Amino acid sequence: MPWEIRHHKQGIHLPQIDWWLDAWRPVQRSFVSHAHFDHVAEHKEFICTAATARLVRARMRGRRVEHHLAFGQAEQLTADSTITLHPAGHMLGSAQCLIAHAQHGSLLYTGDFKLRPSRAAEPCAAPRADTLVMETTFGRPQYVFPPDEKVFADIIAFCRDALAGGATPVLYAYTLGKSQEVLSGLAGAQLPVMLHQEVHRLTRVYETLGAAFPPYTIFDAAPDALAGHVVICPPQRGSDDSAFLQKIPARRTAMITGWAIDRATVYRSRCDAAFPLSDHADYNDLLRFVELVQPKLVYTTHGFADDFARTLRARGVEAWPLGRDTQMDLL
Ligand SMILES: [Zn+2]
Repeated sequence: MPWEIRHHKQGIHLPQIDWWLDAWRPVQRSFVSHAHFDHVAEHKEFICTAATARLVRARMRGRRVEHHLAFGQAEQLTADSTITLHPAGHMLGSAQCLIAHAQHGSLLYTGDFKLRPSRAAEPCAAPRADTLVMETTFGRPQYVFPPDEKVFADIIAFCRDALAGGATPVLYAYTLGKSQEVLSGLAGAQLPVMLHQEVHRLTRVYETLGAAFPPYTIFDAAPDALAGHVVICPPQRGSDDSAFLQKIPARRTAMITGWAIDRATVYRSRCDAAFPLSDHADYNDLLRFVELVQPKLVYTTHGFADDFARTLRARGVEAWPLGRDTQMDLL
């Protein structure tokens, strides 16, 4: 009998074993793939890596039963099933879960994942599975990212240009995961870096988990302190509304996101530049991942889930977007 996979308003549910996957509203028990807020809520009981638990604790109060699993360590989940976590390459501690069931076969749930190596996450694994539930944020062919080395070379050139013109380069990167990857990518560039207070706090947590970074300091708006530094901060709204940006009168801003592939991103984010560094797999890596896992059946979720499922079917892999009326597609 195949796996039943239900898409509810709380998240993805596996009714046959009554476990949730990355439920975003509180439930009884859920696997938590990583510490981003759209993948975690105040569940009574959850399974995750020790690093994810530490990062969740840094951002969310409350008590719960936590099961911390090391990568590659199989644990009994129900009487008929085991669970094993594998690195997802998305951020520190991010995990995919592989559930092996006596009747339903194996199911791999990716959570958010990045197949190419990240500078601030464990390398992504691609274990074989019968059923694959995968995130497909960038599931359209135009989302093919340049090599990260090229993107970092461009970011470093942008920073040097800004500094040479007497401005402070300000890099917008999400607080958890992306900021640490950007900081790591500036290693060796001889650019002194200041981190926004919340980025600084979470980077310290990364360090307690064993991550190493080039030197950095906490943001200081005093002109003498700020001069000559690159600033990494969470994305700011329009420069007129942002109290943080107002502390940096002469600045050049850049958004760091996979969506920078869209030319409109630079205008939409009201930045001077946008660079396509992502913590998600691009279109080519989504295809490569499916080839590596060799599933019999794929469910897609997040982003261009319909498009990517259609692409897989055209390539002879049975695939459906989660939570849609798949019959419609057959008409
Ligand atoms: Zn995420």
